[in-house]
Amino acid sequence: MSKILVIFGTRPEAIKLFPVIAALAARPGLSVRTCVTAQHRGLLDQVLAIAGLVPDIDLDLMEPGQTLDRLTARLLVGLGEVMDSERPDLVVVQGDTATAMTGALAAYYRKVPVAHVEAGLRSGDIHHPWPEEVNRRIVAPIAMLHFAPTQTAADALLRENVAAETVHVTGNTVIDALHWTRDRVAADPGLGAGLDAVVQRFAGKRVILVTTHRRENFGDGMASIARAIARIAARDDVAVIFPVHPNPNVVSVMDAILGDRSNIARIEPLDYPTFVRALGVADIVLTDSGGVQEEAPALGKPVLVMRETTERPEGVAAGTARLIGTDEDRIVSEIFTLLDDKAGYAAMARAHNPFGDGRSAPRIAAIIAQRFAPTLAPAGTR
Ligand code: UDP
Repeated sequence: MSKILVIFGTRPEAIKLFPVIAALAARPGLSVRTCVTAQHRGLLDQVLAIAGLVPDIDLDLMEPGQTLDRLTARLLVGLGEVMDSERPDLVVVQGDTATAMTGALAAYYRKVPVAHVEAGLRSGDIHHPWPEEVNRRIVAPIAMLHFAPTQTAADALLRENVAAETVHVTGNTVIDALHWTRDRVAADPGLGAGLDAVVQRFAGKRVILVTTHRRENFGDGMASIARAIARIAARDDVAVIFPVHPNPNVVSVMDAILGDRSNIARIEPLDYPTFVRALGVADIVLTDSGGVQEEAPALGKPVLVMRETTERPEGVAAGTARLIGTDEDRIVSEIFTLLDDKAGYAAMARAHNPFGDGRSAPRIAAIIAQRFAPTLAPAGTR
């Protein structure tokens, strides 16, 4: 048996890895162990509960007001200790978090091979997304398997001289998670019922779903976003559903600027099925999230991205996403244009799947099994 240690710490990593963990566990010859760092405690636990995942190891590292350097140091030490006791044959990390970066580094220090899920995304700007652009880049020279969601991501790795035979275009596992969750919500409407009251309250209005949490938008950017939301919600025909990220840099600004407004539902972060349902009822998505930029095109939801650059240009190329930055006037005018221009809206509201077909996790598991359980991989996957 080869031991595969899957490491993650935040909500988006958990969403994007639970399909991979299931696909790996279904492979004979692989023994899967999971380690969470709990870099974000509450948001991570919401996903673990929905996915029915009980981690084998929980480092529970989150501290209030954690600085990047302290977090990074504690992650590196904690994950190194886990690797010393687990002695895995392969470490799997996902994306661009401090957990992914330190997980790869701790494995490298022990000469344990690393597989990187969602490899190769590049904005080309080390300050956007910050510090995630550099976190993701640090994993690249370490990993021996790179699972690039798109050809664009694979090409970026090849430009950095990553060996071509180690790069596999698999699609993004977020689409696997989205399909699985959408099917579960359809089969069990009780899931996602937490949204019922808001949906009833806003019946007949055009719904804008907002999420914002990017570190580089803290401060002026966040205040500008809040003022824009207030102006948008002043329209009678519009309602805003806004699950507010628990980071105090977000909550305090939204509390101060938005106060209580009848057209804005400022709510707690939604569990994943409820958020998928919110995406379904939204007319427009306004976000600075990475994952939401990938989900919205798959559902045909126009998504306005409050960033200057993106490491996910495929949504923009497909015509479902537009980069609009964080300037207050620009956000308001982009939303109003989309609300009032039927043809422009229809052109953006077409479903595209630039990020994957929902079969990425089994592809990744097959490639790992081929390498780490070769005699056991079923015929056709070798
Ligand atoms: N999400 C969620 N509940 C929410 C807001 C977002 O489940 O209230 C999901 C969303 O569908 C996406 C992921 O969380 O899959 C994105 O996480 P986040 O925006 O925190 O991180 P990023 O993707 O920007 O790294």
